[in-house]
Amino acid sequence: MDLVDSKYIGLISARLLKFKKVKADLYNFRCPICGDSQKNKSKTRGYLYAVKADMNFRCHNCGASMTLSNFIKSLDPVIHKQYVFERFKGNKTGRGTVVEEPKFNFEAPKFKPKLDLPKASENSAAKKYLEDRKIDADKFYYTDKFKAWSNSQKKTFDSVKYDEPRIIIPLFYKDTLVGFQGRSLGPSKVKYITVMINDDAPKIYGLDQVGTGTPVYITEGPFDSTFIRNSIAMCGSDGDVGKWGISTPVWVYDNEPRNREIVRRIQDTIDRGEKVVIWPNNIHEKDINDMVLAGHDVQSVVESNVYSGLKAKLRFNTWKRT
Ligand SMILES: [Zn+2]
Repeated sequence: MDLVDSKYIGLISARLLKFKKVKADLYNFRCPICGDSQKNKSKTRGYLYAVKADMNFRCHNCGASMTLSNFIKSLDPVIHKQYVFERFKGNKTGRGTVVEEPKFNFEAPKFKPKLDLPKASENSAAKKYLEDRKIDADKFYYTDKFKAWSNSQKKTFDSVKYDEPRIIIPLFYKDTLVGFQGRSLGPSKVKYITVMINDDAPKIYGLDQVGTGTPVYITEGPFDSTFIRNSIAMCGSDGDVGKWGISTPVWVYDNEPRNREIVRRIQDTIDRGEKVVIWPNNIHEKDINDMVLAGHDVQSVVESNVYSGLKAKLRFNTWKRT
């Protein structure tokens, strides 16, 4: 591993959860592509390791594998541009060749990648999975070879061995497919895998379909968002939605007062002065989908339990103790 690689691994390490150096040329952390185990927050199955002089990334949970360069790119396109630039300088100057400025393409590609897959409603297993949860199967797609299809969109998996079927949750931005999530059909060890085709694009489901002038509800998952009008779902980061034109967000978190991560995120939202749904104490289900299956009118429960400021704090304190 050269100095540039080690410098940039240092720079991106702040973005990686539970990052640690195992030994020279070997780093371990929670995989940012699959999110690693949702149940066990201490699992770390993402690795950066040396192959001869180069560093590679691999996750032993979702199987994603790529060069260090592509891994940095998937985390931060800006840092990646600097990385490419420094590598280029390093390679050229050491050998006495002419230093030429690398040409960067800052423009996003203009072509429109097509989604060449059948709808989830056209596959019996995918259709059953979604309809058992009362989810509209026409809103999603299906592939029986997730790794191979992912690679046709963006090189993500070195090997397509042990390929598997998944429901495809498309992430569109301005009529362009910018990424997707694959949801396993069975009890897979990795429920969701997120692949971004365009790293600068928002990791948000439903952004192409909301009116941004009115309240936009932000749910935890894409499937949950299909039950609430004018809603989107964050697929990974909890980030800033303002930069995608949403000025009136209403955050809808899962109903899990025992989950410290969710409690912390609701607290942060209230502290930022933004609107949040605090579930009333007659609702016992942990997420929107379960509420729908239990027969609740989730749309009206959501609309009548939006709080901010002091009222949100009071409600939140009561909810935490339920
Ligand atoms: Zn992974």
